[in-house]
Amino acid sequence: MQGGITLLTGDASYIKKMNRSLILSKIIEHNLISRAHLAKITGLNKATVSVQVSDLLSEELIIETQQEHKNLGRRPIMLSINPQGGFVLGIDLDKRSIAFTLSTINGTPVQTNSIELHSSDYDVILKLLVKQIEDYKQQCVHTRYGLAGVVIGIHGIVNNDEMIYFVPQHRWQNINLKEDLMNEIGINVIIENNANLCSFAERVFQYHQCENLLSISLYSGIGLGIMVNGESLKGYHGYAGEIGHMIIVPDGKPCSCGNLGCWEQYASELSFYKQLAENNNKPDLRCEEIKSLLLEKEQNTCHQLDQYIKYLAIGLNNIINLYNPEILVVNSELLRMIPNAVDKIKVYLTSNISHYYELIISELGNKACVMGACALAIKNFLDISELCLTINEENK
Ligand SMILES: [Zn+2]
Repeated sequence: MQGGITLLTGDASYIKKMNRSLILSKIIEHNLISRAHLAKITGLNKATVSVQVSDLLSEELIIETQQEHKNLGRRPIMLSINPQGGFVLGIDLDKRSIAFTLSTINGTPVQTNSIELHSSDYDVILKLLVKQIEDYKQQCVHTRYGLAGVVIGIHGIVNNDEMIYFVPQHRWQNINLKEDLMNEIGINVIIENNANLCSFAERVFQYHQCENLLSISLYSGIGLGIMVNGESLKGYHGYAGEIGHMIIVPDGKPCSCGNLGCWEQYASELSFYKQLAENNNKPDLRCEEIKSLLLEKEQNTCHQLDQYIKYLAIGLNNIINLYNPEILVVNSELLRMIPNAVDKIKVYLTSNISHYYELIISELGNKACVMGACALAIKNFLDISELCLTINEENK
């Protein structure tokens, strides 16, 4: 029991809600499942399952399908989440672009788009978001639940009340995007830090059983999403995980936070690309040029990459010592381009003290935030405590 509240055993509506949550989460996890199998894996009796399923069918949250087989005759009626019941929208609000993914409520993305940002002006971006969300809402009106939820990933500090405390890249402070959007569009909006959404995505789509998972995103800054005992760990205000501002070089490079020598000045992708541009005397290095420099294995680039990985490993070593993670996911499009990146990092992780079970480069890459946003919107809409989804071809 949490908070000292005593649960009355006769609290039927509470128990019914818990059973509903359990049944829905098992239907979405299995994709197709029979009533009998549901009863078996939930431990609920068949009558309870039957009543709940009947409610969910009338609410159009689930559908029945019966597959015929010519040799085996009738197969049991299978249940699945109604893919046309409604949709959710995941949004990744980054520095130079906003990515949108519309997903069915069973986790299949159906539409994605990305808009370039040429302004950091809050009112301009708010207007743009309202317009986009309204357009998506219109697309979903034919369904029972329409656009059932919107989750926005913010590359900055978001507090536990979903207020945006600070977005360094846009210089936003104390902004209530949630309220501003909900006033305009009348849909439930959740605001969450991007690194938290990345770690959530890893758990929902990749590592279902992992209770202690850390996801480190290395893009323009560095964010850490922490899952401990299967739950997001956000800290007292909600600001935990600002690991990019851990000082690793005393009196080192200046950082936008006001300190010197922060980790993200050495180990974010942006820091690597800045240095690469400087070394090659090309202020605007294009993606193709970066790729060819890395693939050519030019000596200076190799040396720079080695230094970068060394600084990356210093921070990882510190994080491992703090959390003793089961799975440590490093999310980076740069490292995805580098063969044997994990082995290269491990060269610098030689301490006898720091322990982890597995170090992995994220397969979700820069889609993790928006996928985590869709997953959180689904979890919130279905009101379930556990969500496991499988990546299908559309996700890739
Ligand atoms: Zn800093």
